[in-house]
Amino acid sequence: MTGSPVDPDDLREQDGHHIHPWRDFSVAEPPEVVARAEGPYIHTADGRRLLDGNGGGLSAVTLGYGNAEIADTAAEQIRTLQFYSHFGQFTAPPAARLSADLARVAPSHLNHVHFGTGGSIANETAIRFIHYYMNQTGRPGKKGIIAFAGAYHGSTLLTASLTGIDFFKLGFDVLGENIHRIPAPNTYRRPAGTTPEEFADSQIDLLRAAIETVGPERIAAMIAEPIMAVGGAITPPPGYYRRAQETCAAYDILFVADEVVTGFGRLGEFFTSEAVFGARPDVITCAKGLTSGYIPLSATLFSDEMWEVLSVPQAPGGMLTHGFTYSGHPVACAVGAKVVEIIERDDILGHVRAVGPYLHDQLMTLAELPIVGDVRGSHFYHGVELVVDKETKEPFPPELAIGKRVAHHARERGVMIRPMGHIAILSPPLIIDRSQVDFLVDALRGAITATADELAAARSTG
Ligand code: PLP
Repeated sequence: MTGSPVDPDDLREQDGHHIHPWRDFSVAEPPEVVARAEGPYIHTADGRRLLDGNGGGLSAVTLGYGNAEIADTAAEQIRTLQFYSHFGQFTAPPAARLSADLARVAPSHLNHVHFGTGGSIANETAIRFIHYYMNQTGRPGKKGIIAFAGAYHGSTLLTASLTGIDFFKLGFDVLGENIHRIPAPNTYRRPAGTTPEEFADSQIDLLRAAIETVGPERIAAMIAEPIMAVGGAITPPPGYYRRAQETCAAYDILFVADEVVTGFGRLGEFFTSEAVFGARPDVITCAKGLTSGYIPLSATLFSDEMWEVLSVPQAPGGMLTHGFTYSGHPVACAVGAKVVEIIERDDILGHVRAVGPYLHDQLMTLAELPIVGDVRGSHFYHGVELVVDKETKEPFPPELAIGKRVAHHARERGVMIRPMGHIAILSPPLIIDRSQVDFLVDALRGAITATADELAAARSTG
């Protein structure tokens, strides 16, 4: 299978049976084939080499492609023990080692790890255990979850319900009860004339008001990403994230840091909610970079305080009845442990801390372009928001597909970026160097300029 050329017609016919995740029916062209990849570059089947500006398209690939050490680790684990159940009393060395690794690199009070297979499952696990925790502590009515409008938390029924992007849910049923939406702290779109600090105050007031309206006795937790990734690289005003967690704590509301994107080095730390944003989450969820996209794996980390309750059987002979066949999968956990080892041994976090600010500064130079309204984010996660008018901040109408146009022009210039509506998302593998940063930013500048020229030409002829 690997590397063997496939006849494009055969492939198209075979792929006709494949329901793509997030299939985009507006794209009429045949499926794109990514044939192979190495380092930070992908190669398409039509022979093009492109710098990956988005970590495998979805911020998963951190250590680059084709890492032989990781491949060898997976192969060796497959030969040794590819699978045995971790239900009940069984374990295997990879899950034991990785859970200890995660407890070591996480905030010191988070020492209990449940494994899953992706970010949605990690968040689903967080909420199910929080509900269980409330039941076990005699508070069955305390089940509500506060989540941001515009946030993405997953695609299972529960996590799609937590997700605050309405367009993502069109036509699907979601759970409405017990989910309380508050606006995301979008500093760029704060009221005119207010400082980021005043904006932070007003957003904390909104959170407090939402809690008071619903009643803290009916709210179990708040879930929030430190930087809201898919939702548009929404970077909170200074102090907001910490204060949101502290506000929740004051009302006896648990705080879940969704670090599916921000975790594992993207912002220069294994986990950012405490190290970068000063919050003390009760639960952290992670996936994606946990295995650098080499194999599916996620983890949900719980505090000692929560484990004290979760670890008491709910009835004589009771079990903690949540988990999946592949929870703690030996091959996935062996890869995860190898990723932790590489990050530490090769000082990947130090590299991100050194090159991340350079990427930020270079991207900031795009702010001078006439259709760039905002450049935001940190280290290896950024968004470039494109607007019709910088004064009014009016976004481009969806029918212009501005993000897709920019992505197309970037690709022509040798770079893959991810369009999210009118925002271009950048989350490259963490291994890129300064010259690759320059190439990426130059390509993006050229792409945005070409898009603006294209729109101006269409206006003058239309
Ligand atoms: N949480 C966040 C912040 C995400 O960005 C994503 C996916 O992009 C998820 C959760 C869901 O992860 P998965 O697609 O692995 O289920």
